[in-house]
Amino acid sequence: MQPESQVTESASGSDNQPGKDRLTRLRQEMVFLNTMGKRFVAALDRFQVHRALLATLQELYSFSACSILMRGPASYELSIIPRYPLSPPFLQEMFEKIARAASVIGFSHIDSEDLAIAAYLDAPDDLTPLDAAPHAPPTTIGDFLNIPLTVDNRIIGILSLFDEREQAFDTNLLQLTTMIADYAAVALENVRLRERETALWRAAEMERLRLERIISSMAEGMLITDQQGIVTSLNRSAQQLFSQVQISLEERSPSLSLRKLSNNGEIGWLSELADLIDYALDGHTVLNQELNAGVSGDSIPLTLSVSAAPLNEAGPVPTHPVGVVAVLNDITSSKQIEKLKDEFVSVVSHELRTPLTAIKGYTQHLMRRLERRLREKRQTTPADPQQKEPPESYDLRSLQIVQSQSEQLERLVNDLLDLSRAQWGEMNLQYSSFYLADALSERVQLAQVSAEEHAITLDIQVQDSRIIADKLRVGQVIGNILDNAIRFSPQGRQVKVELKEQNSDYLVSITDQGIGVSPEYIDHIFERFYRVRNTASRQYSGIGLGLFVARAIIEAHGGHIWVESNEGLGSTFSFTLPRAPHTTLLELS
Ligand code: ADP
Repeated sequence: MQPESQVTESASGSDNQPGKDRLTRLRQEMVFLNTMGKRFVAALDRFQVHRALLATLQELYSFSACSILMRGPASYELSIIPRYPLSPPFLQEMFEKIARAASVIGFSHIDSEDLAIAAYLDAPDDLTPLDAAPHAPPTTIGDFLNIPLTVDNRIIGILSLFDEREQAFDTNLLQLTTMIADYAAVALENVRLRERETALWRAAEMERLRLERIISSMAEGMLITDQQGIVTSLNRSAQQLFSQVQISLEERSPSLSLRKLSNNGEIGWLSELADLIDYALDGHTVLNQELNAGVSGDSIPLTLSVSAAPLNEAGPVPTHPVGVVAVLNDITSSKQIEKLKDEFVSVVSHELRTPLTAIKGYTQHLMRRLERRLREKRQTTPADPQQKEPPESYDLRSLQIVQSQSEQLERLVNDLLDLSRAQWGEMNLQYSSFYLADALSERVQLAQVSAEEHAITLDIQVQDSRIIADKLRVGQVIGNILDNAIRFSPQGRQVKVELKEQNSDYLVSITDQGIGVSPEYIDHIFERFYRVRNTASRQYSGIGLGLFVARAIIEAHGGHIWVESNEGLGSTFSFTLPRAPHTTLLELS
């Protein structure tokens, strides 16, 4: 395209010449704009924008170099696009002029030295034929032009043109140059947005890959389901866990329905897993739920600890879960160690029982002998208040201490023996028919003997308390709870035992007015070896097995046991027992 001034100068001649010239000029402008637009639209990166800019400007002017200064997110970026090699003094002068222009439009903290460091020389050698270049590189700037690059009335940079000749830039072309600068600004802004988007996408992709690697190298199995509970992805450890129980997920993934698989009856525990996942899909979190996933008959079957949590869509408003993430932990080996430990405790307890029986038996024998001897002495010797206590009575008191201590030791050994039975569900109940009211009354009387400070009351609110259960074991539970009620209410006071009916079951409640249990401990006191460790309970001895065994006994009967308590005011331990066991395979004695 010809510069505007030349077009205006040639606008004279025949009558219809002006109209014709205007048309030619308009067509030339249209072609120019169209070509320029296409160039900028096709530019995919900043270098292609530079090329498009250079190609367009070259059609208007002859110049030595152009530059683009852009404000980046943290600093400035300067691209120098020379049309032929430039000398250092020429470049230095360019930096100074750009720095000055930058401070005029309000780009702060830029000096020519910074620009010299930041400058990127993008020299497109294909644009200027060598013969068009000056023989020697120019050393001074004759004329220059600075045009702000604006997008949406926001200055994003400066376009500058430099030439060694004076008055090289025709001011008539300023409007057109500004238009070119606007095109270039939009193209550069688009490139910048695309670059930022690509960088964000790449960072997100890197993060995704990192997470994928972490999940796949996790020792725990992990699976993710959709909102129908269908497994959509799972890691390598989960695949291995499933393969241990003959589920090949290669065949069935990626859309494996645990529920469907469990309905086929192939693997029983899958329905339990599907239940946990359904529970999590309802918005609940499941923590460390044990699942017995092994083949029955194994001494220690594959045992999994499962945690599952609902997956919600990110956003401010809570949504219905769109899936579940579940973590499966193989705890078989710790179960194995636990079993070994329990077996060891069980063997040692058994071994302790034999000498204990002998100690108890001989102590009783000696006590009886001493009692007889004392009786005989009292009968043969007349009573004399001055006389000293006979040595037999001192011996008898010593033996009473030995006996009570060995009874305590026996209780401990029995608890330890029960521990492994309870742990492995081997309570072996001996069912018989008896009156629950009688069992309660026996235990109350026994407890009252050693609790002089306490008033133990028994309130039977049922007509007929006949039950089929293990009398010894039920008695053990009542004894344990009563023993605790007395031990943990040092101030004495009342202990109330009640028997009622609840639906078709019996309900036994034992209420004390002792130290109580604070809410943070209450969920744990039925766990094995659990003892509340606060100042109030520290003074009481025990190993934390009584309630664990009590729960195992009650649950083996098909009942429930629980506690309600107010710290400092007392506790009520309650349990239910069905009138008869649900199973028909009874061992009635
Ligand atoms: P142990 O009494 O041998 O420690 P238990 O299993 O019988 O073991 O009880 C566990 C814990 O529960 C006790 O250590 C005690 O902290 C708490 N506990 C049990 N019964 C009561 C009670 N009636 N009042 C207050 N705390 C109790």
